[in-house]
Amino acid sequence: MNARQPIRDVVIVGGGTAGWMTAAAAARFLAGGGKRRIRLIESEEIGTVGVGEGTIPPMIEFNQLLGIPEADFLAATKATYKLGIDFVGWGAEGERYFHPFGKLGLNLDGIDFHQVWLKYRDHPAIGPISDYSIAALAARDHRFAHPDKSGRSPLANLGYAYHLDAGLYAAMLRRYAERGGVERIEGRITTVDRDPETGNVAAVVLESGLRIEGELFIDCSGFRSLLLGQTLGVEFEDWSHWLPCDRAIAVPSARSEPITPFTRAIAHKAGWQWRIPLQHRTGNGHVYASAHIDDGEAEEILVANLDTQPIGAFNRLRFKAGRRVKSWEGNVVAIGLSSGFLEPLESTSIYLIQYGIQRLFGLFPDSRFSASERTEYNRFMADAYELVRDFIILHYQATRRPEPFWQEVRSVEMPASLRRKIDLFADKGRIFRYSDELFELPSWVAVMLGQGIVPAGHDPLADSLPDDQVIPAIAELRRGYARIAQGLPRHADFISQALAAAKTG
Ligand code: FAD
Repeated sequence: MNARQPIRDVVIVGGGTAGWMTAAAAARFLAGGGKRRIRLIESEEIGTVGVGEGTIPPMIEFNQLLGIPEADFLAATKATYKLGIDFVGWGAEGERYFHPFGKLGLNLDGIDFHQVWLKYRDHPAIGPISDYSIAALAARDHRFAHPDKSGRSPLANLGYAYHLDAGLYAAMLRRYAERGGVERIEGRITTVDRDPETGNVAAVVLESGLRIEGELFIDCSGFRSLLLGQTLGVEFEDWSHWLPCDRAIAVPSARSEPITPFTRAIAHKAGWQWRIPLQHRTGNGHVYASAHIDDGEAEEILVANLDTQPIGAFNRLRFKAGRRVKSWEGNVVAIGLSSGFLEPLESTSIYLIQYGIQRLFGLFPDSRFSASERTEYNRFMADAYELVRDFIILHYQATRRPEPFWQEVRSVEMPASLRRKIDLFADKGRIFRYSDELFELPSWVAVMLGQGIVPAGHDPLADSLPDDQVIPAIAELRRGYARIAQGLPRHADFISQALAAAKTG
């Protein structure tokens, strides 16, 4: 058996969001002041996907781990705050709901707040469940503040993330990584050499003839999946029967006022449109199924639904929902689009990159590349992708839209894991979060209710609550939430103040 040696030579293939997030984290946690050599290869000629503007709350932690102050991040990436997603027309045309970040209300006697709400929801003093989400209330009024860390006010329940310019984010992380010792190599990889004995990747060869050897290769090459898919032949598991959207057209439009602290996702006849406000412009895109509309019609729908003038080129993208059956094979770990793709309906791709990096560093191999570390990593990634997949499919299954696309997509048998979740919710509003699952209970509740799944009953434990005390208490809670939300700063003012503290560079 080979002696156990530390990995000293890490090669990252690709310089999109995945490549530079990995490189920045490697500079921070792996480089060890020169003990490990970390190189990143990217090709300007090939370029990057060039979209990806919505994020979810875990991103805050990623920046904090790197020690990047929020103000600097906002300035560098032209970011705005995001309190959730405004879903328009998803249950049926004309309906809308908000998926807020953060927690809902107050649990009573250990009973989840939404169960209490389900029990009393018909009482006139109770109102919609979104009245108990500080993020939803702030979003409605275009306000923002950081959560209250003392935990004593409803503001403690606020969750948030960002909208950002992904190209600028990658550029910021590149500066960070290069300062931390990561070497960037420009060039197109034309050949991948494998070790004849182990089958592992031994080196990549650039068009220029430069040969780059390494011990661990992190494949961030995007949809091509150059190392994991093309070279090692790890198969792609196709999920397009559940998620048939396979194209997108994206275009920026002029900044519009007010800068909304939320993403909007508008359902159309064969897909949906995103609207993401940044400091300097609005990002827009139409994700659609090419089996139901052609590219021309998709562009017309997008343009007809912009709220400001387009100000840049149209970016057309093709993709397929699914994932590689393994993310780690031999000495190659795929992170980002090379590992899998789920449409950006809940802005989960950057999170899956972050999760892949965190798990890889937590299971970082030595020269023996133990099977147990690899297996564990693959299990973590399979679970992460499948749980996100189910959450996205929920939006397509629970819909009453009449168009052929929507009829078709909801007629497909859903994954058993999602069926179980929907059945439990439809019966007594119960949601169980599996270990490590990204989306927390309030997210499932918001989307289930928003998509029109109304539970037949509630948790019997809520029946033990004294009505005469609980109803006034919830009504007071509701008034308190409204008061706090109305007192928050305007989103645009909050950003301006934060930017004043930024260091550029
Ligand atoms: P890419 O950006 O494709 O980068 C691949 C890199 O590999 C490039 O640097 C390229 O030059 C390099 N490369 C490839 N082949 C070679 C070669 N032979 N030699 C040298 N270099 C090579 N995510 C979110 O989190 N939020 C969103 O709102 C969101 N919206 C999206 C909307 C759409 C329509 C799409 C398609 C994706 C969206 N995503 C979103 C996903 C997000 O864009 C990606 O997850 C993210 O950009 C990471 O991409 P990547 O780095 O894996 O790949």
